[in-house]
Amino acid sequence: MKINVISIFPDVMETILSMGMLGVADKKALVEFKVVDPRDFTEDRHRTVDDEPYGGGGGMILMAPPIVDAVESLDVAKGSPVVLLSPAGRQFDQVMAKRFASELEMTFVCGRYKGVDERVRELVITEEVSIGDFVLSGGELAAGVCIESIVRLVGDVLGNQETSETDSFASKRDYLLDCTYYTRPVEYRGHRVPDVLLSGHHKEIENWRHESSLDRTRRLRPDLLNKKN
Ligand code: SAM
Repeated sequence: MKINVISIFPDVMETILSMGMLGVADKKALVEFKVVDPRDFTEDRHRTVDDEPYGGGGGMILMAPPIVDAVESLDVAKGSPVVLLSPAGRQFDQVMAKRFASELEMTFVCGRYKGVDERVRELVITEEVSIGDFVLSGGELAAGVCIESIVRLVGDVLGNQETSETDSFASKRDYLLDCTYYTRPVEYRGHRVPDVLLSGHHKEIENWRHESSLDRTRRLRPDLLNKKN
């Protein structure tokens, strides 16, 4: 899978994309990242990418030409998603992560300041995505959040060490939260690992984990119980 990011802070984005599982996936060539700086598509000495809004008011707006040119320089396949990170977008979730993970290529466009000129949306954006009802100063961290959850669903990225199939929101468990987990020591400050997990009975452990998932979902996120993938 190829993931492109348009950002006026390419160094921030490169750092995020080189961290942990993302960096490993990149090194193993399981994903390919490309970061494009809209400043490379400016013609003035200061490489200006923002300007004041027509009609006045505070804040600066990212201009359309450098961003549109940056997206078009990628020459992405027709129909591949070009996603604008925006508080006004559809809220990102695991279903969306799965959909994007099935794409061969996708592009994220990071806004800054008061946002982007509307012509960016009109000309190159296919959908808008938000990571929640709060406002960040830029789209880079939001893109990082989306990309991390997408890439861990791309085949072979997690390897045998970890599986996404039993994670919270994974389709195999409908829309449940993951179960509780324990590791060594068996007893810590009077808190003991449930005996069933030490029993070696795989079927009983599986049943216990399913009950644990149901219990956590009922207590912590009862709204999920009616939700299906
Ligand atoms: N004026 C905009 C508004 O109120 O909707 C907020 C602009 S915000 C300061 C600058 C950029 O950060 C946005 O263009 C977007 O790319 C990114 N951003 C901020 N909050 C976000 C969120 N919740 N989800 C995704 N991107 C976000």
